[in-house]
Amino acid sequence: MLWSGWGDPAKARELPPQIRELLHDLLGVREPAAPAASFESVRLAPVALSPAHLAALADVVGHEQVQTSRAARIRHTRGKSTPDLLRMRAGDGSAAPDAVLLPGSHDEVAALLRLCAAERIAVVPFGGGTSVVGGLAASRSGFAGVVALDLARLDRLVSVDTESMVVTAEPGLRAPEAERLLERHGLTLGHFPQSYEYATLGGFAAARSSGQASAGYGRFDDMVVGLTVATPSGDLDLGRAPKSAAGPDLRQLLLGSEGVFGVITALRLRVRRVPGRRVYEGWRFGSFREGTVALRTLAQEGPLPTVLRLSDETETMIGLARPDDIGGGSSGCLVIAGYEGPADGPADGPTDRQEAGSPAMSSPATSVEGRRAGAGAVLARMGGMPLGTEPGKAWEHGRFSAPYLRDSLLAAGATVETIETAGFWSALPRLYDAVRLALLGALESPLVMCHISHVYETGASLYFTVVTAQKGDPVAQWERAKEAVNAAIVAAGGTISHHHGVGRDHREAYAAELGPVGVDILRAVKARLDPSGILNPGILVP
Ligand SMILES: Cc1cc2nc3c(=O)[nH]c(=O)nc-3n(C[C@H](O)[C@H](O)[C@H](O)COP(=O)(O)OP(=O)(O)OC[C@H]3O[C@@H](n4cnc5c(N)ncnc54)[C@H](O)[C@@H]3O)c2cc1C
Repeated sequence: MLWSGWGDPAKARELPPQIRELLHDLLGVREPAAPAASFESVRLAPVALSPAHLAALADVVGHEQVQTSRAARIRHTRGKSTPDLLRMRAGDGSAAPDAVLLPGSHDEVAALLRLCAAERIAVVPFGGGTSVVGGLAASRSGFAGVVALDLARLDRLVSVDTESMVVTAEPGLRAPEAERLLERHGLTLGHFPQSYEYATLGGFAAARSSGQASAGYGRFDDMVVGLTVATPSGDLDLGRAPKSAAGPDLRQLLLGSEGVFGVITALRLRVRRVPGRRVYEGWRFGSFREGTVALRTLAQEGPLPTVLRLSDETETMIGLARPDDIGGGSSGCLVIAGYEGPADGPADGPTDRQEAGSPAMSSPATSVEGRRAGAGAVLARMGGMPLGTEPGKAWEHGRFSAPYLRDSLLAAGATVETIETAGFWSALPRLYDAVRLALLGALESPLVMCHISHVYETGASLYFTVVTAQKGDPVAQWERAKEAVNAAIVAAGGTISHHHGVGRDHREAYAAELGPVGVDILRAVKARLDPSGILNPGILVP
């Protein structure tokens, strides 16, 4: 992973000429950004932890698992939001941890938390480091130092129960490796976010991630049936049955808790059979409104595809749903519908919300082709025009490649960032307008694109991509826009995050969403589980 950018350097992408023209003509990008700092020139403060602290930490995990090198510290600085990358490109290593710890077991994690609590050392749980909400930059104030607790060594698939279709896995498993290990058993999680190449299972649970195939496989939090968590106050082992009426479900308190209550050290996850057949296709609608009604109808009446997304007019025109061919867009609004399931026979099983008897499952169309025909009939009835499988193949081919363009855009002098939210169907048009207006008001002639990325019976999520010319300090420029968007989302009744999480960037808006009693509950839980406040200070809890 690039330390100041995204992904595998070998997959770095040049800007296509049509995008360069667009930046120049439409957005007024005239000057390339200042060149990115070299690794050697990143400014780091001296290690704040004393030799005695480092020795005590090494007593728990071993010397080689306590790393204080420049390389280790820089590679654990911040996450991968655009402001994170802009700061790293500027050589700003001020958020670097003093040390990186690599525990090898639950017991080592628990012992480290006890030691750090006693010595007032702040702890940042670190999975794949792909947070885009400032979830990895802890506050130092009042602490002897900050350590990144990298879970990379906790990377085993521990057990597979094919009768219950439940596996137990460790949190540091990266998604591709998890899929590789599961595939040996003919299984899949079906969780494919755009950060798939680097993010970990623990990070997915801690940030309530949602993948591109969520219509068929559910969100990651739908997949978690059990969690083991180490906290400074002791261990939690949650989830012993598929559903339970035994009081409030404490798993829900840990899902999305972004490391502020404890460290997830094992996950029990619902899995599915690897699909034998996958078909992705495109449809065109005349307007975003029309397409939205069609997606709502599919979400409420079925049959539901496995992948379902609708680009608005601007995103379709730019061609963002075809990441390997951006700039080659078309008119109208593009729908990508994907169907996954056994080569023949029943489709991918019901998601949690699609219990037998729900509209989506009561459809007679249960095979991939049957569901495709059934959903196609709905899309056609709602005014959609079939485009065949070519747009679906283009989307599938480039589904993880769009983030690689961001580095080239930043270098060219444009800021590109994403914003996501969700709301009920009836509130969606207002939410869409509110976010667009906030961005158009806060930035000078930005390009604002949007797609519906995840659908539910009651509503959907909106995912915006914004591109604007860098003016002055690009971090400050983006922070002003972000503040305006956060306020607009709250005022329009949307949630501040559908799947990126809260981190530092959404903390105040999350507090507004929760209200004062909700905030007090969060603080009370934090005080019980982490009385010295060492876990991810400054993140999530207002
Ligand atoms: C290019 C790009 C594309 C993205 N696309 C998507 C997408 O399609 N869908 C989506 O949902 N998200 C997406 N994200 C956001 C991000 O990938 C997710 O939030 C993901 O869940 C983070 O996983 P991670 O392993 O990288 O966690 P990290 O970034 O390392 O950590 C995330 C948060 O969880 C905490 N944490 C990590 N591991 C643990 C643990 N074991 N126990 C307790 N706390 C822990 C961290 O302290 C931090 O606060 C994208 C990000 C990028 C950069």
